[in-house]
Amino acid sequence: MARVFVITGPSGVGKGTLIRLLREQVPELALSVSATTRRPRTGETHGEDYWFLTDEEFEQRVAEGDFVEWAEYSGRRYGTLRSELERCLARGVPVVLEIEVQGARQVRETMPDAVQVFIAPPSPDVLRQRLIGRGTDSAEDVARRLETAERELAAHDEFDHEVVNDRLEDAAAQLARIVRESLGGTLAGA
Ligand code: ADP
Ligand code: 5GP
Repeated sequence: MARVFVITGPSGVGKGTLIRLLREQVPELALSVSATTRRPRTGETHGEDYWFLTDEEFEQRVAEGDFVEWAEYSGRRYGTLRSELERCLARGVPVVLEIEVQGARQVRETMPDAVQVFIAPPSPDVLRQRLIGRGTDSAEDVARRLETAERELAAHDEFDHEVVNDRLEDAAAQLARIVRESLGGTLAGA
């Protein structure tokens, strides 16, 4: 049985890093490629990291009902395309959505069986250090993301599971355990 896993939490907490490790441990997992109106960062590829859309393209796809969920985040729009999710589920493989909290809430309404995991930082200060240390966002954007993070962190207890990403190896192991337990005996070696 294919399952949907939502990995959420504030920007810079380590969602992308943990999902990379998770997919090494559970290689059957597919990752849904989101659409966004933000500009590609250095090294990001269209169709791999995101589908990079113009505002007009995104708007049109919203009007056409192409998104399972979408949200505005830090002045840009991000969304999960129905076609991405269906492509993964048609292969019969479990799929991971890496999305922010407003999108996770929408998925909770429309896909109540999806397993939701909130990734939390050990402290707000560590979150700030990671976001700055990643070096991908302007000072203004870091400030905006940290402001949003306060609201997101306040929502942590809405989620089925919470993983504190302090020591990376421990958090990755905990996340893999949640995924394996949710999949039950559906994966070889699970
Ligand atoms: P997100 O996808 O949630 O925005 P990233 O995966 O990009 O976050 O991680 C943000 C930064 O924090 C990256 O530079 C990453 O290498 C670092 N990082 C992630 N997890 C840890 C951890 N457990 N300890 C130290 N640094 C981490
Ligand atoms: P970034 O700009 O750092 O890649 O992403 C900013 C935020 O948008 C992150 O919290 C990320 O998880 C979230 N995000 C990425 N894709 C989606 C999506 O498809 N839908 C929603 N709602 N959020 C997304």
